[in-house]
Amino acid sequence: MKSFRLCLYTLCTAIVACILPTTHADESKDPAVLVIVLDGLRPDYITKDLMPNLHKLAKQGVLGKNHTAVIPTVTRVNSSSIATGAYPCTHGILGNTIYIPEVEPTKGLTTSNYKNLMKIDETLDGQLMTAISMGEHLEKAGKEIFVVSSGSTGSAFLLNHKVKGRGIINVEMILPESRREAVLATLGPVPEDASPNNGRNAWAVNAFFMELEENGLPDLTYMWLSDPDHTAHKYGIGTPETNRALKLVDKQIGRIVKKRTSEGLEERLNILVTADHGFSTAIGGIKLNEILKEHGLDKGVINVANGLYVTTDDEEQKLKIIEVLKKEPTIGPIFSRLGHGTLSPSSIHWNHERNPDIWVTANWNDDKNEYGYAGSTMTGGTAGHGSLSQYDISIPFIANGPAIDTSKSTCHSMTNNTDIAPTACKILGIGPSISMDGRIIGSILKDPNVQKQYSSSASWSSTPQKYPEYIATIKRIDIFTQKPGDNYKYILFGTASRSGKPDFRNTQN
Ligand SMILES: [Zn+2]
Repeated sequence: MKSFRLCLYTLCTAIVACILPTTHADESKDPAVLVIVLDGLRPDYITKDLMPNLHKLAKQGVLGKNHTAVIPTVTRVNSSSIATGAYPCTHGILGNTIYIPEVEPTKGLTTSNYKNLMKIDETLDGQLMTAISMGEHLEKAGKEIFVVSSGSTGSAFLLNHKVKGRGIINVEMILPESRREAVLATLGPVPEDASPNNGRNAWAVNAFFMELEENGLPDLTYMWLSDPDHTAHKYGIGTPETNRALKLVDKQIGRIVKKRTSEGLEERLNILVTADHGFSTAIGGIKLNEILKEHGLDKGVINVANGLYVTTDDEEQKLKIIEVLKKEPTIGPIFSRLGHGTLSPSSIHWNHERNPDIWVTANWNDDKNEYGYAGSTMTGGTAGHGSLSQYDISIPFIANGPAIDTSKSTCHSMTNNTDIAPTACKILGIGPSISMDGRIIGSILKDPNVQKQYSSSASWSSTPQKYPEYIATIKRIDIFTQKPGDNYKYILFGTASRSGKPDFRNTQN
């Protein structure tokens, strides 16, 4: 009897649902922003042939010609910067692996696993990040964030580390946990990890569509798709496998744009597309531990992603390390607070109390790989990122939607991943948070008052040349706004020269 009643109830509910006109849960007219991060996307991947949907989205919107990743050009540093609008000097996530001695005094902790991040946040009394996240900032403004991701649990967690708003749906982590069962029941099991990672990327896009259906459009969505990075690390740039990954992830862009139209969201939803870093072909290089050992300089040195924490506190040892490293041709710009030809961490917005004593980056050049893609770094593996190469720093930026001024098809102004959060705030009608370092990209917005606030000028910077055997240079462009003291420093690349002359490269500025 009980089961009959239950059946009858289910049947009646189904009939009522069929009779009633379908209404969307969301009747709002408020603007919304969807930030799509395609992991490791190089600007030169966006061609009509490889990525027709993204190419079209750029054509019908604005294409940022001079967009840049945050240094270090690695995934979780940039996910933190996209989430906070701040540089590492403010948010404190200095690399993909970080050194938090309060949690683990003898080695670095990978940020790819969210459980490590939760443990750090707990140990440091909520100070995993030393900047305000968009999740927290939006909550104060009565708005909601949502994260979908096919990337690592760590990069997803860093996009909303206080699990605010609608939380996080990642292929291997759903937060809050209370949503987990229902999400998996609707979306089905997560496909196996693969290269290309199409199954998982499609699953993440489905999670966004599910959210639209069930709870309406979130004010801000961060969507992280793991290709082309996932495939390019394994197979290299320009290979058939990576090209296939690009075509497949582009199909997901096509699905999203189509959904915006079919759901009637064209007057509300702004889509911003970017990447967390570029990509370079690896040609072999730095063997830091071996170098230190060979010179008897490894005592008490903890190497965390080529950041050296010299726990002996022996100043002489530190200077000896620098002298040895300056002679190694595989090593690019070296950063420390010790001078001696090294660059200051503040020159790349990286100065934070968590800094190592010395940070070593890989050298790089403009050499093309067999498929004609320029940019090689002196690192191991097939292909990757993380250097101060222009090929790792330069990334795409595409803006398309009702708040975007499409009268100009390109934005030539320097922009950076830290600018995305403040620009999203402007579109959503709220001010930036106090910990944001980035600026509102006024020139792409329809609002003429915002556009007027910006003018730009260029400037150079390089280290003193009293170390002729090693000259490190940072190529930087500064943007000044009309507000006195507002100065935004954009890094184009960093070089290390051993020829006696600084290496400025052949760039237009
Ligand atoms: Zn990445």
